[in-house]
Amino acid sequence: MDCIFCQIISGKIPSDIVYQDEEVLAFRDINPQAPVHILVIPKRHIPSLDQLTEDELPLIAHMVEVANRLAKEEGVAQKGYRLAISCGQDGGQVVPHLHLHLLGGRRLSDELG
Ligand code: 5GP
Ligand code: ZN
Repeated sequence: MDCIFCQIISGKIPSDIVYQDEEVLAFRDINPQAPVHILVIPKRHIPSLDQLTEDELPLIAHMVEVANRLAKEEGVAQKGYRLAISCGQDGGQVVPHLHLHLLGGRRLSDELG
């Protein structure tokens, strides 16, 4: 499997891990767009939101729960933060392994796209 994020999960590619459990891994983005920029990913390889099945929906809820908790731990929850998932080419998805961005620590752009 040559997926970058699967290699991060297996430890082949080093990363700055901030949280993990059986289902998800959270680590700092290598090219942060904000003072806090963490990626929350499922440990199972799911290519994108578009390919999510109905039984995988609870996983999204869990990813959001983990991101919300990390936002508190990173001290950005009170001032606010953004959770974002890119999907496909027009959505700006570069890595084809589902990931939730947690961005915070500065006033983010009003534009989403
Ligand atoms: P996308 O554009 O697909 O929504 O986001 C992919 C994100 O993964 C980008 O923000 C990029 O900086 C991050 N990224 C890509 N390769 C690596 C890597 O090897 N390590 C880490 N920590 N982040 C990565
Ligand atoms: Zn993968």
